[in-house]
Amino acid sequence: MNLFYKTSFVYDMSKSKILVTGGLGYIGSQTVLSLLDSGFEVVILDKNQPKEYQNFAYIVDFERVDLLNIGDLERVFKKYKIEVVIHFAAFIEVGESQLKPEKYYKNNVVGTLNLLTIMHRYKVNKIVFSSTAAVYGFSGVELIDENQPRNPISVYGRTKSISEDIINDFCKIHGFSAFSLRYFNACGADPQTRTGEDHNPETHLIPCILNAIANNVTFKIFGNNYNTPDGTCIRDYIHTTDLASAHILATKYLMDLTTSGFYEVVNLGTGQGFSVSQIVQSVEQVTGCKVLVEFVDRRPGDSDRLVASNQKAKKILNWEPQSNLYQIIKTAWEWYQKIKLK
Ligand code: UDP
Repeated sequence: MNLFYKTSFVYDMSKSKILVTGGLGYIGSQTVLSLLDSGFEVVILDKNQPKEYQNFAYIVDFERVDLLNIGDLERVFKKYKIEVVIHFAAFIEVGESQLKPEKYYKNNVVGTLNLLTIMHRYKVNKIVFSSTAAVYGFSGVELIDENQPRNPISVYGRTKSISEDIINDFCKIHGFSAFSLRYFNACGADPQTRTGEDHNPETHLIPCILNAIANNVTFKIFGNNYNTPDGTCIRDYIHTTDLASAHILATKYLMDLTTSGFYEVVNLGTGQGFSVSQIVQSVEQVTGCKVLVEFVDRRPGDSDRLVASNQKAKKILNWEPQSNLYQIIKTAWEWYQKIKLK
């Protein structure tokens, strides 16, 4: 199988495209699929090869490029007429970022700077940036809005916060227009099981619970003495299909802009929090399987509660999350069964 099969020849190359960096990743791939479903022309840029199941990568333009290789990056901007960049490509492991800061600052911050530099050189000045609620750190408020001060507690969170600042400066100084979208807990899978969560190692809550079910092992809850009603941490779980729709709305917003220098930060969450124990119970209900639970020590860096205010996303982007927790877990389970239990 030719992994780098290209279909560019069928396209009108003069037509502008959306460049998606990290388009093979968890949220990036869902966004690529949603863009294609909405009729956009997409170029995927990723330093990894498509996985076996990522069929969509063979029907769009795919460029295997590392953002740290500025020559390769420039070649992509020479080749295509790009209108908007959606920038996902980044390392995302909080724990690893604490052990290897140089790896994270280089890939996430230098990679972003390289991308912006080449965009500026080729007069592509619209970007939707994949940021994170990790920029807030311990906020201590019921609902976190975008005016909360940034205070990231991990290297990963700082790489995203610094990248936001660099993008904001490109807006102010070079007339870029941009959104930084701060995701809360991304979860769920494509309802048609075309893509989903597939990290190695997997550390996220829902796939870890599914792993415990599939392997008949105990699921460890990190801490039961938090300042929450049942003692376990509360998070705001948002389906990747809803994240994808927000990226499309942000992309359209930037495409329609006639002025330059626009910059907005927008939270993407449901505004509703669930505790780890509530998620475990919901997984049991959806899968019909019992989860064996063990409470262990707190995981360093976890805060009691992280729940978004999503009023700004509703107001600016006219965005409304469509999926509930049932759909999140159902799609995650279907995906898990497809790729892990095949
Ligand atoms: N969590 C847990 N056991 C696990 C994985 C996660 O108790 O095996 C908890 C974690 O401590 C946090 C919540 O689940 O309170 C969500 O964690 P996740 O890593 O999915 O996302 P985060 O909120 O860290 O971005």
